[in-house]
Amino acid sequence: MTETIRPGGCLCGALRFEATGEPIDIGWCHCRICQRSSGAPAQVWALYPSEAFRWIKGEPAIYASSAEGRREFCATCGSQVAFRIGAYASPNVGCFDEPDSLKPRRHIWTESRITWFETPDGLPRSPRDDK
Ligand SMILES: [Zn+2]
Ligand SMILES: [Zn+2]
Repeated sequence: MTETIRPGGCLCGALRFEATGEPIDIGWCHCRICQRSSGAPAQVWALYPSEAFRWIKGEPAIYASSAEGRREFCATCGSQVAFRIGAYASPNVGCFDEPDSLKPRRHIWTESRITWFETPDGLPRSPRDDK
């Protein structure tokens, strides 16, 4: 049996990645760092163990967005493609070639949710990232 491999990349194509297997979790993040770094009301991430995520084309630029977290993005087009923390890599779902196959399961950091941005999905919500 072969494992699912999901490819993706940045807007301009300079960065390409592959994520292998099924993600551990998928969710919306409404934190201020995701809002500011993406310019969007929220980001949707798919959490993988680091070893299941790899760059197959290009080298990302890296920004340490907190003491533990870092954002990997394309220095040419500016797409923020992945977030890394500890032993995990979270590519942003919008950067996958087929984002439809990655459905969010929960919302985190809703304490900073932008009030006019609402998704009527009935998914569990955490004020912070307390699983
Ligand atoms: Zn790019
Ligand atoms: Zn966030």
